[in-house]
Amino acid sequence: MTDNQVPSDILKKLAVIVGPQNLTTAREDLLCYSYDSTAQEYIPDAVIFPGSSQEISSILQLADASSIVVVPRGAGTGMTGGALPVKGGLVMVLTRLNRILEIDKYNQVAVVEPGVITGHLKEEAKKSGLFYPPDPSSFKFCTIGGNVAECAGGASAVKYGVTRDYTLGLEVVLPDGRILNTGVKTAKGVVGYDLTRLFVGSEGTLGILTKIILKLLPHPACRATFQVSTASMQQATSLVARILSSHQPCTLEFMDKTALHIVSTFLPNPLPTGTKALLLIEVDGDAQTVALQSDRLMKFLQAEPGLIGVQRATNEKEAEALWSARRSISPASFELKPHKINEDVVVPRTKIPDLVAFTELLSVELGITIFTFGHAGDGNIHVNIMLDRENSLEKENADIAKKRLFAEVLRLSGTLSGEHGVGITKADYLPLELDETALSVMRNLKKLFDPKNILNPGKIFPEQSSGKNN
Ligand SMILES: Cc1cc2nc3c(=O)[nH]c(=O)nc-3n(C[C@H](O)[C@H](O)[C@H](O)COP(=O)(O)OP(=O)(O)OC[C@H]3O[C@@H](n4cnc5c(N)ncnc54)[C@H](O)[C@@H]3O)c2cc1C
Repeated sequence: MTDNQVPSDILKKLAVIVGPQNLTTAREDLLCYSYDSTAQEYIPDAVIFPGSSQEISSILQLADASSIVVVPRGAGTGMTGGALPVKGGLVMVLTRLNRILEIDKYNQVAVVEPGVITGHLKEEAKKSGLFYPPDPSSFKFCTIGGNVAECAGGASAVKYGVTRDYTLGLEVVLPDGRILNTGVKTAKGVVGYDLTRLFVGSEGTLGILTKIILKLLPHPACRATFQVSTASMQQATSLVARILSSHQPCTLEFMDKTALHIVSTFLPNPLPTGTKALLLIEVDGDAQTVALQSDRLMKFLQAEPGLIGVQRATNEKEAEALWSARRSISPASFELKPHKINEDVVVPRTKIPDLVAFTELLSVELGITIFTFGHAGDGNIHVNIMLDRENSLEKENADIAKKRLFAEVLRLSGTLSGEHGVGITKADYLPLELDETALSVMRNLKKLFDPKNILNPGKIFPEQSSGKNN
């Protein structure tokens, strides 16, 4: 328990709002909501499962009046600790709000509650011939609310963009309980400030997202998947910018040799001997476009000297097996070490070879395993620094590696996070990328929305420089 313990009279009032079955302080329940994908653990004082915007409004009015900390949570798959109750208080789990309220085929919009699983929306949209493109590798188990709060991206971002590009409007419950509606349900709209965009990527620090209006597209009829084996990482990464200068793939992913090793059993076919890195490339569209694009891409790749192999998936099952392997890298990496620092840095595409070469040298110099994979088409590289936190030397070297990685990313004109957000794991590094003016404007925005700092404190902003919670 922490300083922010929820007093028993408040617990009684909360139970009246949501019903006693939707509030818990049982130790075994608190443990279930104490961690996320960072594998760090902070025990909340209580966990609440509201069922409507009105209930959330009442909870926040009460929390605001009593200065009780509230931490919104979707599926808890976040990679930067955003859903962790680092200051205790009330974890608010949004998974009961899981209805797809509307899929409008002809206006191509969906209205959903935040607890909808991303993959479920994708499937339901497809039934109407529509496509919701954002596809974080966690799409089968993360929520749309978490996606909007983090501005999640995925493999298809190289062609289709990220969650921000599909979020048209929001219903948000503000920290004082007021309900705010932002944005539009139309293809365009410029009335007033773009508050929708402010909430996208705000990591649960400005308000609770309770309804989300999303743009949909017509579903592409076909796709073709290519697997390109290269003899070196440099060869793979230097191909990326050249492919994109003359082709329009919908995905362009890469995996280094360690990533390939840990998912080798998931791959549909054995890799050609000597493969040191793999590019996974897809094109999509109608049948004719896909045939043309595939043909052009194949000719381009076959003319490339020194590639070990270029294979096209022969059927949907084979393509899905390749994707399954790609999506398994993150969870499977724990076979290397019990812990990891997982960064999702971004550099301009032409700088990917420099960044990857830097991580390889860093790994050798510090004597720790560092491997890379990710959304090469966006320059968004997942750098995985593997360690055992019980081993003090490894921990020290992993922290050094993270600092040096960030410095190099910024030197290469990159950014510290492409999709995972800041949360607690990058908060201390924010001043490396943002100047004082940007930081102060952001802090003032937070104060404007949440003067008592009850909503998800301890996230995004470095604590030391402010001397405050947030
Ligand atoms: C195996 C694996 C692969 C992944 N791959 C990707 C990837 O390819 N791309 C990517 O972008 N991410 C990826 N992630 C990270 C993660 O899945 C995303 O950040 C996702 O958007 C988090 O959704 P969630 O529902 O789990 O949110 P949570 O982890 O529960 O919460 C994340 C943040 O959102 C806030 N939040 C949640 N719901 C709300 C709400 N309704 N209102 C306000 N704030 C809210 C929380 O407070 C927290 O700050 C991956 C994670 C795993 C485990």
